[in-house]
Amino acid sequence: MRVLDAQLNGIAMDNCEIHTRCRLCREGDLKTCLCLSHPPRNISRLLHHDELKSDMPIDLNVYECRECGLVQLAQMPEPFFYDDYLMTTSHSAQMRIFQEDQASDFIQRFGLSGNRVIEVGCGDGNYLEYLQQAGANVARIEASSRFQVWARERGFEVFSGYVSGENAIPEAPWDGFVTRQVLEHVPDPNGFLQGIRASLRSSAVGLGEVPSLEQSLDGYRFYDFFTDHVNYFSTITLRYALERNGFEVIEISRGMGGEYNVVTVRIAQAFEFTGLQRIVGTLAEEIGAFIASYRYAGKPVAIWGAGGKGVAALAVANIREIAYVVDTDQNKQGLFTPVSHFPMVAPNMLERAPVEAVIITALAY
Ligand SMILES: [Zn+2]
Repeated sequence: MRVLDAQLNGIAMDNCEIHTRCRLCREGDLKTCLCLSHPPRNISRLLHHDELKSDMPIDLNVYECRECGLVQLAQMPEPFFYDDYLMTTSHSAQMRIFQEDQASDFIQRFGLSGNRVIEVGCGDGNYLEYLQQAGANVARIEASSRFQVWARERGFEVFSGYVSGENAIPEAPWDGFVTRQVLEHVPDPNGFLQGIRASLRSSAVGLGEVPSLEQSLDGYRFYDFFTDHVNYFSTITLRYALERNGFEVIEISRGMGGEYNVVTVRIAQAFEFTGLQRIVGTLAEEIGAFIASYRYAGKPVAIWGAGGKGVAALAVANIREIAYVVDTDQNKQGLFTPVSHFPMVAPNMLERAPVEAVIITALAY
């Protein structure tokens, strides 16, 4: 993980160590990577005249986790800040095209037309219309009372509140989710992602979007760091956040000219061991029956190959009644297989004491 170039004009770097734990991995110490003097306490709100006297700039320190690399602020957003926030991007024609294309691609690519898709937070809500135009049955969960009203006036179903580990999304399970420009605001990204995951079908997919840390660094954009954003995700830390909370990343890319890191995910599936467990018994039965069919006729059977996998299979499958095991490795000849205790012999034994059948255990080939 790169840190911001210390040569940035007018920005002092300090080397002070802040021993605050990372909000994502919860293990790493935080090191200072950027110090800004005089930023506003809140960039989303302009002031009335009677507020000027009490308004003061703050010092803003940006940190990087030594373990997982997440760039973050140590402080939390102001309490209840998002209850009444206002963020609109729909005035930009370029943005509208980007969002409309992105929503359409997401719904079509994953066959979500006719399925239930929940949007978690974010802005003026045009995105709900784009998802709906693409064929999804949409709803939103939203903390801002202003945007709840906006969306309801347009006929969308809206749930109020924040998503967390304790607060799953109502009317779950959902077939898909979209959360755009939200994760960077969330003080507990693990709880947020776990709340979403708990609200989904096991087959669900999702689309996430955050401002790109890479873009901020590449453009020396110190003004991208402000109190509203408590997390700054690179593609690496975005992937890490999702994977540690039960998602499998399908694709991560840069969108909107590199401004955003955009990710599509599905729920990570547990490994399936049932079939493997079943084959243990099946293999033993099949080989046992094969050997028995020869033995009843008085015909001996040998095994070819005593590599590690073959030896393990013979033991676990509980193979008995074998004449010997042939192996070309002279270091093995004269020894015995573990558990099954078959003698290891050279290939010429097949001429000296012929058998009727040979089971080949070259399992990796
Ligand atoms: Zn960390």
